[in-house]
Amino acid sequence: MNFDFKPYDDTMLFVPLGGCNEIGMNLNLYRYRGKWIMLDCGMGFAGPHLPGIEVLFPNIDALLPYKKDLLGLVLTHAHEDHIGAVQYLWSEFQCPLYATPFTAAMMKPKLRDEGLGSDVKIHEVKAGVQYDLAPFRFEMVPITHSIPEMHAVAIRTDAGVIMHTGDWKLDSNPLVGPTTDEVTLSRYGNEGVLAMVCDSTNVFVEGESGSEGDVRANLTDMINACTGRVVVTTFASNIARIETIIRAAMGAERKVALAGKSLWRVTTAAKESGYLTDLPPFLTDKQGMDLPKDSVVFICTGCQGESRAALSKIARGEHPVIRLSPGDTVIFSARTIPGNNLEIAYVQNRLVEQGLELITDHNSFIHVSGHPARMELERMYALVRPKIAVPVHGECRHIAEHAQFASELGVPEIIKPFNGAVVALKEGSASVVGRVNSGYLALDGSSLIDSNAPVIRMRRKLRDEGMVLASLMLDKQLKLASSVALTAPGCLDDAEDKGFIASIVEAIEEYIAEFKGKGGITQLENGVRSIIRREITREVGKHPVITLHLLKK
Ligand SMILES: [Zn+2]
Ligand SMILES: [Zn+2]
Repeated sequence: MNFDFKPYDDTMLFVPLGGCNEIGMNLNLYRYRGKWIMLDCGMGFAGPHLPGIEVLFPNIDALLPYKKDLLGLVLTHAHEDHIGAVQYLWSEFQCPLYATPFTAAMMKPKLRDEGLGSDVKIHEVKAGVQYDLAPFRFEMVPITHSIPEMHAVAIRTDAGVIMHTGDWKLDSNPLVGPTTDEVTLSRYGNEGVLAMVCDSTNVFVEGESGSEGDVRANLTDMINACTGRVVVTTFASNIARIETIIRAAMGAERKVALAGKSLWRVTTAAKESGYLTDLPPFLTDKQGMDLPKDSVVFICTGCQGESRAALSKIARGEHPVIRLSPGDTVIFSARTIPGNNLEIAYVQNRLVEQGLELITDHNSFIHVSGHPARMELERMYALVRPKIAVPVHGECRHIAEHAQFASELGVPEIIKPFNGAVVALKEGSASVVGRVNSGYLALDGSSLIDSNAPVIRMRRKLRDEGMVLASLMLDKQLKLASSVALTAPGCLDDAEDKGFIASIVEAIEEYIAEFKGKGGITQLENGVRSIIRREITREVGKHPVITLHLLKK
């Protein structure tokens, strides 16, 4: 799928390679006058259809022929779905990064871990300054979200201004960082904005997303009312929520202990960037357990039921240090990301089984979303007044609903993009003008492979059907030189199915003893395969992977 970009040199093009018709893996490209900039480079989580794979990245093959014209990667904020692929893909596209201090502080250890610490140039940027990447100029516009230093990016070229919102909400009391800079947004609106590329996550939610300030008040009351140990789990990156938990703990005369690597990593980056600095130091989980029960709050990783996170280990009774007992309380101060329901339910059930008090956003007001509900979207469209609306950061249904909503709000032109779409942002004739390659790369152990690679398809079959492995030692006349060895891992049980396995071996040995085929070894091999297939299908109704090792004497 090659696309000829040349005829569009004077048109601002938007080419998303991730983040459209899915939530996660945001990677947005803009092209003008033969030059490119990238906004965000995120990861996503693999589903059960990709066994052995945890994370996915956008496939950037379509960009590679133009990488010398890629001027920079601007990061809107430090959530994994926006920065989580940088350290894995950077060597492919190699360009300077532009990020605010907190996002840069989150990025640096990731780059260091991949051995890229000194290779990647990170320019630290701040709001209110125009940065030149000719033919582009960009400005970071402060906007609230659930992580410090979230910024929309206003991209200016001769073709007009694009407002790329990133993830956002309107919060008049965000507690950490400034409120959304509505003055700057409306200044751009007054000047005229060609297109707005905007967050669709919560387009189905009526009203407003709610304020972090209200969560703080409620969480404080809640912790005050607890008598045993309190465990609160939230996203490590939600620094405002972490500060809320600390202040609520302080109000209840409790000390705060952290459990989970990512909490230590993020709070260290936050302190480096000037957040959480006027608060007492954190205790380790061990120090927390040494305190009386009513004097400690643990902040734990694992709000999405991640099996290796601290909370899951506590729930399974496998945490090296933290043990809870009836009368203790566990608070889930986070939403359930779709797809994680089963894992979260598993953890919550184990906690309740231990006699613990469980508080979630189903029974209490302890979480607000970081994404805009409909009233906030309405306000944003009123401020920015784009000529073209481009909904992103949503599944297909979110993007369709957002497009409909933008049309009701009077936006003249609306484009529903998809990964790989080449979108011409041209007033009066905005349209998808073509398509480039897109797809996913899977992190398999330490290597990156295509998510459709044969090895993953085979792994899925092995997982679902198991395998049969038979070793046959043959002499020159294609007769058995020793008895057939056959095992069927994941398909048959060595002990329980011993008799059945022996009967397959017998059938194979008989077949080979009588084999006179002119087709030689290939015919013999096919014959053995069909015996195994026939027997297994008949006995257990499965279709395992069959592997034969033919050894010649
Ligand atoms: Zn985000
Ligand atoms: Zn996001």
